[in-house]
Amino acid sequence: MCAIGTSPDDLRATGTFPTTTPAETIGRAVAFFEREGPVAAIGIGSFGPVDLRLGSPTWGHVTTTPKPGWANASVAPEIRDRLSVPVVFDTDVNAAALAEHRWGAAQGLDTFCYVTVGTGIGGGAMAGGALVHGLSHPEIGHLLVPHDCDADPFPGVCPYHGDCWEGLASGPAMAARWGKPAEDLDRDEPWQLEAHYLALGLVSVVSVLSPERIVLGGGVGGEPRLLPLVGAELDRLLAGYVPAPEVVAPALGARAGVLGAIALAATAC
Ligand code: ZN
Repeated sequence: MCAIGTSPDDLRATGTFPTTTPAETIGRAVAFFEREGPVAAIGIGSFGPVDLRLGSPTWGHVTTTPKPGWANASVAPEIRDRLSVPVVFDTDVNAAALAEHRWGAAQGLDTFCYVTVGTGIGGGAMAGGALVHGLSHPEIGHLLVPHDCDADPFPGVCPYHGDCWEGLASGPAMAARWGKPAEDLDRDEPWQLEAHYLALGLVSVVSVLSPERIVLGGGVGGEPRLLPLVGAELDRLLAGYVPAPEVVAPALGARAGVLGAIALAATAC
């Protein structure tokens, strides 16, 4: 998803195309900005894992993804060199968190977490007013959560860890466990189990980050009946030891990522 603008109320051009090979996908993005620009700077919110270390020889590259063709692909340097503008690079979920902070459900907060549950589980986080980076970047989807294999023998779908958080609670995990896509699951049981797993992961998020609020969205995370179940289960699991932050829906929906990229770009201007 590409966009040119300065804010949600000032999107002057948008374009969407599928992620195919790096050459084709980056070529289409470059062509979009050549056609619709010029722009002062570009922000990129990328799927990961990515190298965010400024000064690293592989800064702006995707690193170890299983996505075909994308392992070690240069993204930010390629776009910077072809368009000759400053490029700010971060994860898609950190970008979305930044947009929710600037214009959405996390305005006015210093410390919060944005979690998206869909084809995977991803999370971006802000602590003390800054997006969280480190050795690489948070990979909240791969938290290890308690898995009662007697109650739920499903082995999980993560190719790296099996029953990590994403392995147990992403959309593909729900579909594989219950035999049909999450959006077709009408009974309460799948959603109660989903809320349990999501809350288990959020206990770790709360324990490490102490977020003032958790923004929970995505194709599965945005299911309306899920939000109150997750909030109640998180409250139950925390058992009154620390206050449970409120769990809210994102305000920017599917535009959060691209708006976050605009917010990233603004930091270079
Ligand atoms: Zn995993």
